[in-house]
This record gives sequence, structure tokens and C-alpha cells, in this order.
Amino acid sequence: RPRVLSGMQPSAASLHLGNYLGALVNWVRTQDQYDAFFFVPDMHAITVPQDPAELREHTRRTAAQFIAGGIDVERSTLFVQSQVPEHAQLAWVLTCITGFGEASRMTQFKDKSSKGGLETAGVGLFTYPMLMAADILMYQPQGVPVGDDQRQHVELARDLANRFNHRFGETFVVPEAFIPESGARIYDLQNPTRKMSKSSESPAGLINILDEPKVIAKRIKSAVTDTDTVIAYDREGKPGVSNLLDILSAVTGRPVDQLVADYEGKMYGHLKVDVADAVVSALQPVRERTLELLDDPAELDRLLATGAAKARDVASETLETVYRNVGFLQLG
Ligand code: ATP
Ligand code: MG
Repeated sequence: RPRVLSGMQPSAASLHLGNYLGALVNWVRTQDQYDAFFFVPDMHAITVPQDPAELREHTRRTAAQFIAGGIDVERSTLFVQSQVPEHAQLAWVLTCITGFGEASRMTQFKDKSSKGGLETAGVGLFTYPMLMAADILMYQPQGVPVGDDQRQHVELARDLANRFNHRFGETFVVPEAFIPESGARIYDLQNPTRKMSKSSESPAGLINILDEPKVIAKRIKSAVTDTDTVIAYDREGKPGVSNLLDILSAVTGRPVDQLVADYEGKMYGHLKVDVADAVVSALQPVRERTLELLDDPAELDRLLATGAAKARDVASETLETVYRNVGFLQLG
């Protein structure tokens, strides 16, 4: 089976519906065709200031939601990045073959560092793409499913793989970035031209996997629509209604045009009730399973330790080749 690798930062207490429908649901599907590696990039999370207790909690929660959402720890490999020390070791080697100018051109660094200014931005924010290249190249995957915003980082990983292979001999598979098939893009319920995001100003536009069903239903019922009354799909003219239709379509698996036909002559209120019911029943089992897993952190930590050991089987082999090829002495 070809190999793929995906991760999601432990930056909040709960994943939101966009993370779930746009990423996790697709990850779950890839497990049939691929030898899939999933990880929680906690080392990336410390490139901006973090609270230690919160990071620990968010890391467990993120991993628990992966499992509850359908990541099968038997078939796939699920691990926490910091528990596989080879990531940091490979990142250093890759950092040493990255040009300073090349790293300076990464747009995410420019965006994030321009907010607080270069004086306060950590060097980790600058070397983040080299760690991400290590995350990827370590597992020799043929493909990396990523969002559009990560394309440039995967491009760098490809460049570094080619450069390393050229200088030190064939070592890495050069992976392709693929923008996932039909990952639904979900927008903020209060501001439906902005994507739903953990970093949105107000929680009112967010649907979190771990929210109580009552809260989810209430947020959907208060979603912004428009002053028209016709249920139609029009991303430009009717972003709020279109977002609700997209959500309902993603959750039920029914095409949008079929939904639109069904709702002919009905009111926004009808649509909202149905969306709320469908989302609540889709998320309910994920929420319950997550809470169960979090109830037994020792067992969860054990599952993650097993995942880290599986990941290290592959990672240590790659690192050994890399160390030998760059000229480090082998341990006796
Ligand atoms: P942040 O605001 O911190 O960037 P985020 O909510 O955008 O957080 P990420 O951790 O950046 O979440 O993304 C994790 C995964 O979820 C990625 O694969 C990303 O493409 C996907 N994703 C995030 N938001 C959405 C959304 N609104 N719709 C669809 N997919 C999304
Ligand atoms: Mg994001």
C-alpha cells in the first residue's frame, strides 16, 4: 500500500466542524487504500508561546478525537510528534541544507512574524518548514494530503529531498502534494465568507466536535442567512444558506442540488432544524467516544506509546541512512 502522512496541530480543546469534515473524515477514508501515518505535531505547537498544562491537555484531546472520528490505531499509525525524537534529529540535518533566503521566502513565516514583528518572532517559527519537511520525508510517503496553505511547505520538502539525494545519494522518496479530493470547506456561521477557524474572534460561528448538542443546535439556528426567503445555492449571493447546504450535504452524503430541490417552498427555519439534527447526530458518537477515551488517560497514553513505537520503526531506519550518508560515525 502506498504511504501517506497527515497531522493537525493541538491548538484548541476541540476540533471544529471544518477540521472534521474538511480533514478528519478524509483521513479516515484514506486508511483503506493507504498505509496511513497520522500525528499530532506538538513540536510545531511550541513555535508560538504555549501553556504547558494546556498543551498536554490539547494533545491528548486532539489524539482522542482522531481515534473517536475513526482513525484505526491497528491499521494506521497514530503518534505524537515529540515522542518520536528522530523528527528533531532529521530536522537539524535538513536545516543545514536549507538556504537562508529559501527559508525567508516561506509566506507563513512572513505572515506570522509580521504580526508581532521580527524582533519577537521565535527562530522556531522560521525553522518550522524544515521540521515539517522532516515530518514528511521521515516516512518516505508517496503523497502528502494538504490544504492549499501548506503547498509551499511541501514544495520545500520536495526540494530538500531532491537536494539531499543529489548530494548524498538516493535517500528520500520525493513526495507529491495532493489537495484532498472533495474535502468540504466549511465557513463561519456568523461570518460565512470567512472559513470556520479555531482562531476566529467569536465562538458563535464555530461548531466544535466536543460541544454539547444543545449548544450546536443553538449555534446553527442562529446562523447568519440573508433577507431573502428562497433556499438556493449561491456562494457569492447567499453565503450563509450555501454554507448550511454544504454542511448538510457533507454530513448526509446527499448532493447539494438534490437538497435544494427538496427544500423548494420551505423556509430557512426548516433547513436549520434539519442541519442541526444531522450535525448533532453525526457528531454525537464522536463526542461520546472522545469523552470515554479522555476518561482513561493512562489507556490513551498507552495507545499513543504503541503508535510512537510503530512510527519509530520506520523513523529510525530513515535516520540511520541519513546519518550514514551525511558522514556521521555509526554507533558500534
Ligand atoms: P488555525 O486557525 O489555527 O489555522 P484551523 O481551524 O484553520 O486553525 P488547522 O489546524 O490550520 O485548523 O487545520 C487542520 C486541518 O483542518 C487542515 O487539514 C485544514 O485544511 C482543515 N480545515 C481547517 N479549517 C477548515 C474549514 N473551515 N473547512 C475545511 N477544512 C478546514
Ligand atoms: Mg489553518
